Amino acid sequence: MQDIYRRIQREYEESRSKALAEVDARKKELYEREPELAKIDEEIQKQGLEITKSVIFVDDDSKREEIIRELNSVMDRLKQKKAEIFAKMGIPEDYLKPSFSCSLCEDTGIVGSITGAKPCNCFRQKVINYTYNQAQIFNLERENFLTFDESVFSEEKKPAYNSDKSPRENIRMIREIAEKFVERFGEKETKSLMFTGGTGLGKTFLSNCVAKAVMDAGYTVLYQTAGLLMDLIMDYRKGDSERFDASQYEELFEVDLLIIDDLGTENVTEARRSELFNILNTRILKGKKILISTNRDLKELVNFYDQRIVSRILGNFQICRFFGSDLRLASK
Ligand SMILES: [Zn+2]
Repeated sequence: MQDIYRRIQREYEESRSKALAEVDARKKELYEREPELAKIDEEIQKQGLEITKSVIFVDDDSKREEIIRELNSVMDRLKQKKAEIFAKMGIPEDYLKPSFSCSLCEDTGIVGSITGAKPCNCFRQKVINYTYNQAQIFNLERENFLTFDESVFSEEKKPAYNSDKSPRENIRMIREIAEKFVERFGEKETKSLMFTGGTGLGKTFLSNCVAKAVMDAGYTVLYQTAGLLMDLIMDYRKGDSERFDASQYEELFEVDLLIIDDLGTENVTEARRSELFNILNTRILKGKKILISTNRDLKELVNFYDQRIVSRILGNFQICRFFGSDLRLASK
């Protein structure tokens, strides 16, 4: 675990210094193009220092206020002049603002005041990514709502689909459900999602769409296949896991969105069943969202798990049934 924290710390340092170095390079280039800017910045720094000095060293209240007011108005004029030069050069106002990957914590991993500091969501997300190794599973840049293409789904209705919709109409409806889920993610009443249907029908793609959109909204997401998830938990229970500690186990209950992929393909034992029930049940009681995707239909799930788990799912999930022909075969 210490290793992971160190790695994340290093990542933050690297991305911060990269952002700051970019600003320095831009500044240097600007100063060369317009030496007046360098002079103004120097003057702004000097004024700032004067203000600090007056706050510390001038004892007389009214005298201090007067000096500071004077210095502030000089400062305002300097900033005004700088803005005018920027405008004349056609440079956007935020040109010298560092572009951090997380604007909330400015790539420090910490938010809040010194007394109320806590880890930023981006920090929790990084820890989850390392622990659950989901960097490899995620394909978020390629698979998101923007790249989602419903035209690969057939418009042909078939009796075998058991639906009055074509696969394309069906996927359009599921997409709307998924987008609404993201939109109302923070509301307690929003039901969790379950994707059922065969392989190659877009379940994983749509899970990735949801994962990316939820993360972009600032929430944490944990994504894992049912099999690996159960292995991790079982190793942890036996005390066999070095990487997976109590705080990581807790994330299964605390993370904003838990995505369990491929439910119903893993080995099941009584112990595994009760772990799964405990996770689902605790999260549902807390109003925390889950996205389950499975190749099995509900009847098969009853046989695979038990009535208890399936009832929990039926009552608290919105179920989306994927059908059609395997897209991976069609594209070959
Ligand atoms: Zn952050």
